[in-house]
Amino acid sequence: MPLPLWKRANSFVSCSGQSTEAGGLIIGKFRGPHIEVTDITEPFTSDIRSRFSFVRKDPEHARHAAYRWKASDKTETFLGEWHTHPETVPHPSSIDLKSWRKLITANQRNMFFIILGTEGHWGGLGIATKIGIRAKQALLVSGNSDQLSTDMLSINHKNL
Ligand SMILES: [Zn+2]
Repeated sequence: MPLPLWKRANSFVSCSGQSTEAGGLIIGKFRGPHIEVTDITEPFTSDIRSRFSFVRKDPEHARHAAYRWKASDKTETFLGEWHTHPETVPHPSSIDLKSWRKLITANQRNMFFIILGTEGHWGGLGIATKIGIRAKQALLVSGNSDQLSTDMLSINHKNL
């Protein structure tokens, strides 16, 4: 993920007790075995945000993804979702896993998921196969954002 986009997503992570979770879509393209993240969406007004959950409800996310699809001559697509957690090193909740499975089932393809914590991050790939859907943790990163941006780019989606 390019650093400016990564910083935009990270700006929603906060340790303060007042803050609520944030999230959005990950948009990008497949380049051979790699993915290139080209854009993300940020929370819109109709999303439901609380301290411990983020529900992407605003139709503006899908509208933006459709816009990027058209503007890029059908190369940039909806790759997955990101959201923040009020944890140092985040892990997916059972609600996260459930909603991701739903998303993979609806889209019938692999999708990427990133959770941003205050000190570490979680990145995973949900895999759609003919026999069913399984979510698999592709990498667990705790470290600075430069490290993660490199790691995310080197995910080989064909080998997972
Ligand atoms: Zn979550």
